Amino acid sequence: MTVSPIENLFNTLDDTALVLQEELSCTYLEAIAESGENLFHGNILQDELTELTKKRLQKKYSDAGLDSMEKEQIRKALQLAILKGMKESSQPNHQMTPDAIGMFLSYLTGKFTKGSQDLRLLDPAIGTGNLLTTVLNGLSDKKVASVGVDVDDLLIKLAYIGANLQKHPLELFNQDSLEPLFIDPVDLVISDLPVGYYPNDLRAADYELQSDKGHSYSHHLFIEQSVKHTKPGGYLFFLVPNHLFESEEAKKLHGYFKEHVYIQGLLQLPMSLFKNEQSAKSILILQKKKEDVKPPKEVLMANMPSLSNPKAMENMLAKMDQWFTENK
Ligand code: SAM
Repeated sequence: MTVSPIENLFNTLDDTALVLQEELSCTYLEAIAESGENLFHGNILQDELTELTKKRLQKKYSDAGLDSMEKEQIRKALQLAILKGMKESSQPNHQMTPDAIGMFLSYLTGKFTKGSQDLRLLDPAIGTGNLLTTVLNGLSDKKVASVGVDVDDLLIKLAYIGANLQKHPLELFNQDSLEPLFIDPVDLVISDLPVGYYPNDLRAADYELQSDKGHSYSHHLFIEQSVKHTKPGGYLFFLVPNHLFESEEAKKLHGYFKEHVYIQGLLQLPMSLFKNEQSAKSILILQKKKEDVKPPKEVLMANMPSLSNPKAMENMLAKMDQWFTENK
């Protein structure tokens, strides 16, 4: 039976990670990061391994066929390995963004940035980088410089490995994104935001969207931080909880939006992508205000159909095309 390139690379990562996990007494996900690093450098970087183990690993890497693979194939193989590792241990806010959402965001960012060839892109909650690299692979006709930030050092290491293996230039910052960010303004933000309360009230006090009482919502602060680092006229795409505009902080959010951005769209994703109603999300699309930029005639609003219903999906994409013709 022939093995697909994705399966072959996944098997390489999996086999080598299992050896490294055992030898280094680490988690599978940490071993994936070590293995990805070896694969990228074409060398075994763990000095503590015996010569025999190093040889065994080297042989597996040389059979991976990395050089002849497409970027998307590499991303998918790494994604499978990370998913396996995340099954062992993960918190909901650390989960990788599902592929279906990444693909759809990739389509949307392509549409909104149609005329631009040179872009700077930020993901302030980059995690494993799966969402970011899906979007980068979708924008392959443009020159995109990207920046990613995440507080989790293992996830950001996986993002670094994914970008290296797919040959994407990516600047990374391992820090709390709500602390000051030292980055140049960007044209585009994409982010699957961490949802919940931000524990650092002192830092939250720097934000207009700080809550009047108790902890602030981190996803609200992330939106404000992202808008701050976007060029006037730039676009922002966020995965947000469906109930974003229903919380007790919604009034403040509306006020902030009115002053700084134009809402371009709110697309509710199909329920089938989520475990329960509580965790269901929408894509919020914003444009930072600029002197000569006008709001859309109509906000793009839709309930996305299930991806397993191609006819409904086709109708929805046709409606969106219509919206782009009338508004962009
Ligand atoms: N799109 C990512 C991917 O494809 O892997 C997943 C993003 S995940 C839903 C949210 C991320 O936000 C997690 O990686 C988490 O570590 C990060 N995060 C949470 N709070 C943060 C903070 N204050 N600063 C930076 N990153 C944070």
